[in-house]
Amino acid sequence: MSSVDVKGVSKTFPQTRSGTATRAVDDVTLHVPNGSLTAVLGPSGCGKTTLLRLIAGFLVPDSGTIAFDDRVVAGQGRPVPPQARRVGYVPQEGALFPHLDVAGNIGFGLAKASRRPGADVSERVLEMLDLVELPREFATRAPHELSGGQQQRVALARALAPSPSIVLLDEPFSSLDAALRESTGRAVARALRVAGATGLLVTHDQSEALSLSDQVAVLREGRLIQAGSPADVYMAPQDPELARFVGGASAVPGRAVSSGLSATCALGTVRLTAAPSADDLVLVLRPDQVVLVDDGVEAEVAEVSFYGHDAAVRLSLVGQHTALVARVPGPTAPTVGDVVRVGVRGAVHAYPAPVRD
Ligand code: ADP
Ligand code: MG
Repeated sequence: MSSVDVKGVSKTFPQTRSGTATRAVDDVTLHVPNGSLTAVLGPSGCGKTTLLRLIAGFLVPDSGTIAFDDRVVAGQGRPVPPQARRVGYVPQEGALFPHLDVAGNIGFGLAKASRRPGADVSERVLEMLDLVELPREFATRAPHELSGGQQQRVALARALAPSPSIVLLDEPFSSLDAALRESTGRAVARALRVAGATGLLVTHDQSEALSLSDQVAVLREGRLIQAGSPADVYMAPQDPELARFVGGASAVPGRAVSSGLSATCALGTVRLTAAPSADDLVLVLRPDQVVLVDDGVEAEVAEVSFYGHDAAVRLSLVGQHTALVARVPGPTAPTVGDVVRVGVRGAVHAYPAPVRD
């Protein structure tokens, strides 16, 4: 068990023949508490893999420090090499040893590091297969005899087998189908907790980040723009763009009402979560805050995504260029073309409107 402390870390890749230099990680400061799971969330290319490789020790930061508990592993003196960091790493592409069978892959780090007796290693291999929900018979298969998702789970088992203090997972579930993704995600989060390992889980999937982690760290263009509990990031996103990315929220223009905690917008007067810092505002409406009501503003249903338990309804306010998304219980979902009435539930977050020239 260790905490991870990333302080002011930057990494620039030098100019390539085809392009310019890339500042992949830009002055990132992040604390990952001992034994917790942090999701590193952001779109493709925002620096997630680079950040993990810096923590694992495959890359060295240009500036800043990385510490595990009080032990500085990079940025001060000679960097600690990856094999001495007690970090389990699951790369984005599983990368199993093709010449070893599944048991050989999972037991690889065990046999080398701990000089455990063979029987112990085989026992641990079976435990790991159970953990990642693969049949024990797979122990003798070769990697090429497994599907992509199964290979990925073997890679995960291999990283967890030596009980590392810190486990780094780079989009480990992206090759799994939806149902397996959820159950594997929960199993992995549980396994990390049971082992007391500190985890960093890279994902571009906001529901995976919110549902599995204790902390969500959002990266954008190499910079950390927000780190907080899943509820904080969902309910109080740093800016409208993050509200859209994390919560599928809609943004509508609004104007502060001089008497304080409210604003007017196309949906009428709405309550705000905090006193606005400008007159012209961007109001962020999460889908759970947009509700169908009898006395609301008229909107036409443009699209319905039915999920069963609930449905996402894309709406266009009648006579206005305003699009909204509402989440409604599945059985009550309207159909495309319906005209419904919408209102706002609860207090909404407001941000100063971008200045136009
Ligand atoms: P993510 O994992 O979030 O998709 P990466 O960390 O892989 O993002 O990449 C961040 C940025 O750094 C991208 O613009 C990428 O093209 C660039 N990059 C990553 N690795 C290298 C490298 N070895 N050489 C040059 N540029 C790189
Ligand atoms: Mg990546």
